[in-house]
Amino acid sequence: MNKKDILRRIPKIDEVLQQQPLFDFFEAKGASFVTDAARSVIDSLRQEILALTDETAENFDVERLTHSRVAAAVIELIDEEDKNNLIPAINATGTILHTNLGRAPLCKEAVENVMKVSRSYSNLEYDVKAGKRGSRHDIVSEILVELTGADDAMLVNNNASATMIVLSAMAAGKECIVSRGELVEIGGAFRIPDIMEQSGATLREVGTTNKTKISDYENAINENTGALMKVHKSNYDIVGFTEEATLEQLVELGKKYDLPVIYDMGNGLMVDMSAYGCDEPNVPASLATGIDVMLFSGDKLLGGPQGGIIVGRDEYIKKMKKHPLARAIRVDKMTFAAMEETLKKYRDESVALRDIPVLSMISASEEKLKAKAEKLAELVAAECKDEAFNIEIVEVLDQIGGGSAPSVRLPGYAVAITSDEGTTKSLERRLRRYELPVVARIQHDQLLLCVRTIMDDELEHVAKALR
Ligand SMILES: *Cc1c(COP(=O)(O)O)cnc(C)c1O
Repeated sequence: MNKKDILRRIPKIDEVLQQQPLFDFFEAKGASFVTDAARSVIDSLRQEILALTDETAENFDVERLTHSRVAAAVIELIDEEDKNNLIPAINATGTILHTNLGRAPLCKEAVENVMKVSRSYSNLEYDVKAGKRGSRHDIVSEILVELTGADDAMLVNNNASATMIVLSAMAAGKECIVSRGELVEIGGAFRIPDIMEQSGATLREVGTTNKTKISDYENAINENTGALMKVHKSNYDIVGFTEEATLEQLVELGKKYDLPVIYDMGNGLMVDMSAYGCDEPNVPASLATGIDVMLFSGDKLLGGPQGGIIVGRDEYIKKMKKHPLARAIRVDKMTFAAMEETLKKYRDESVALRDIPVLSMISASEEKLKAKAEKLAELVAAECKDEAFNIEIVEVLDQIGGGSAPSVRLPGYAVAITSDEGTTKSLERRLRRYELPVVARIQHDQLLLCVRTIMDDELEHVAKALR
């Protein structure tokens, strides 16, 4: 067929839109979205045909221009454009807090509460008993006080914004003394010292990278000192010839000079997890040393939504709640809804360990992980009978990750896979590009599916993805 005749066969847009399956899309997606998609498909067909030569025109499949085929192409385009950019993924890396994969997954009740509170109106800032304006700060401050032993608490956007408001309220225009060994970069090239400087406080660095003594802090104190601050070394360790001031020493020094002591502890661990190999400071124990104000993330080891929690003495927290920055870094109802449910789990430690995903992943027993790996191996073998896969169960060392507990390695299990037909790299890449992406690890040229971070109800999807 020659080019002119082919062009004549391109269907009219109105006729394409009359095709039943497309017609149904009209109501769901809106007329203009569907019409634009149809126009775009027809335009690109026309361009393709115009680019044909006399020879290639002969081979053009005119069946592609039937109404039903064009309608099908439009539906395909609509589906493609309608895909979300933010989608769930399966974490088979064995790294529990993977910042790139959204840090802590939420517990079931937190997710349900987000849905409940955000699909209707709520009492976010309304005191229903008194019938007058309320404060969103009250939503989680009571339970945080109950769990940590602080006077008061405040929830802001994340720990970086917590740093800003704490220093703005407590040390703006003054010097804040910090150890050189604790000036950390938290990822994405964001550095704690830069964030601190934004608050209007001046950083007074003391000590050296590996050693800071309490006397270094004391020697730096002058009439312009506003606060003493300790930053937890979340994502790195300094080992060897080292020394750092303890919280107790800083509290004592603060008392001596009547200066507040601030502790940026980062991870927000609420319970002692040392029995499970996670030897990190926890919030209640740190606060019990007499720290004045402490701040930490909501979505690290606390296992909740993104947030920055500030706990401490009344006078300071009160000042922060009234600070202009408080409005700029306040959190949404969805965050409060998820945080309140997450925090309630901590009323009983065994409930927290059972229900909060990051804690149950850390505390999972080796037997349980081995059984999970065996189940995954079985599912993969059954699902991939026709693939040239070699499947074995191997021991691995999982990590906490997400800038927490850098030296902790948790003994776990993985299903290791190699293929006789493709490279491990291509296997890893194709899993990642599956409609429900599976992010795996490569070690010794084997693909590792670390089961600690795979949820029970995801095992089947992993096997399907492999097929
Ligand atoms: C993670 C971390 C931060 C940053 O917290 P975000 O919640 O990511 O803003 C700040 N300080 C320390 C010590 C941290 O570990």
